[in-house]
Amino acid sequence: MMENITKIITDEMKLPSTQPYSEEEYLKSRCDSYNSTTGDLNEKDGFNCEFCRNKGHYMLTVDGELRSRPCPKCSNIRKSIHFLRKSGLSKCTFESFKIENEWQRNLLRTVRNYSANFGDKWLFIGGQSGSGKTHLCTAVLQELVFNHRKEILLFEWAEKSKKLKQLINDPKYDEELSRYKSVSVLYIDDLFKVKRGETATAADVNLAFELLDYRDRENLTTIISSEFSIDDIISIDEATGGRIKYRAQEYALHIGKDRGKNYRLK
Ligand SMILES: [Zn+2]
Repeated sequence: MMENITKIITDEMKLPSTQPYSEEEYLKSRCDSYNSTTGDLNEKDGFNCEFCRNKGHYMLTVDGELRSRPCPKCSNIRKSIHFLRKSGLSKCTFESFKIENEWQRNLLRTVRNYSANFGDKWLFIGGQSGSGKTHLCTAVLQELVFNHRKEILLFEWAEKSKKLKQLINDPKYDEELSRYKSVSVLYIDDLFKVKRGETATAADVNLAFELLDYRDRENLTTIISSEFSIDDIISIDEATGGRIKYRAQEYALHIGKDRGKNYRLK
């Protein structure tokens, strides 16, 4: 026993006389060690991130203290994935879109083409409710999240515009609207939807223009569905409708009442 203790003391004394870790080096090694571990978010979300190794956050030192931050590469995309799943919208895929007629086949082909050649253009689908507009727009969102790694937000016009119009004189207005202005991909569902017998007001028009003008200038992808056609929107507000038409070009689509004949490219 005594021999062992003597040996340990002797061995310790033989250690080279290196400087102890500085506080900075110690913190860096803690960060490196944590950041090199692997999380399990890939299995949960089906999304692989090499930056944070699927932990969703990473560690760094700030003013001599350890801090955790959301991963800049994947945390917003994971939020988009959770949103799609939680809302049940993830069931709306290109594969689950029902084709019973030729116009549906053509519509699906055009929207798939938009998604495959995703770039600067916007997508607008106007026309009949119940014709699959939301289904197809949502299918595009999923492609953009999973294949193009884009962050998305949904702006359900009737509900969100009402909420924002109530906040117009509140400092929260800019804060709330800025999320929708600046997100990589925004989906506006049912643009200018109002209650039966009502029409879009000046406040609706101002809100739509503020949102879309910003997104146009910043070159941010915008997907829009509406019961109105582009021409209807131009007659509600020329500046807003004109902007959508210009940005969407061949992807400003319309599903007419006589669907067999009336699906057309604008
Ligand atoms: Zn990440």
